[in-house]
Amino acid sequence: MSYSLPEFLAHTIAMEKESAERYLELADMMETYNNQEVSALFREMNKYSNMHHSSVQERAGSIALPVIKSWQYRWTSPPEMTDEDAFDRSLDVYAALRYGHGNEIRAMHYYQSVAAESADPEVQHLATEFAAEEQEHAAALDRRLSRAPRPSISFADDPEPNVMDKHR
Ligand code: ZN
Repeated sequence: MSYSLPEFLAHTIAMEKESAERYLELADMMETYNNQEVSALFREMNKYSNMHHSSVQERAGSIALPVIKSWQYRWTSPPEMTDEDAFDRSLDVYAALRYGHGNEIRAMHYYQSVAAESADPEVQHLATEFAAEEQEHAAALDRRLSRAPRPSISFADDPEPNVMDKHR
């Protein structure tokens, strides 16, 4: 996909807005679990997404942006979820962190591919910058994931027994 600048800005604005909303939900969820540390981490992620959202909106200024369909930027649902619009309220800390981590990695890959494929130097420049930011966010979640308690299911029942290895 070789995006024009308006296309790229529109995608980024939509993605970061979605991201900010999801992180806020996750932060609130962790608070109901009384997990202040993880809640604070998600609030920080929410703040980054909000900041990114408004700075890109500012960059767009008066440029007319195309309308983006929700399926073009939405978070992917965790495999255990069927309802796209709601989180599983029983998502544990580990799953929540993995969920956020997946989002950051996906955003990073998205920006990397835009940077590689766009013919517009301004798009290349911005996308490269954004990819690096997402990489930092993913790393922050990764560090927290490596310290998170595993979900309380036995290894025999664990559908993804090597998940910790993948995160290291
Ligand atoms: Zn991010």
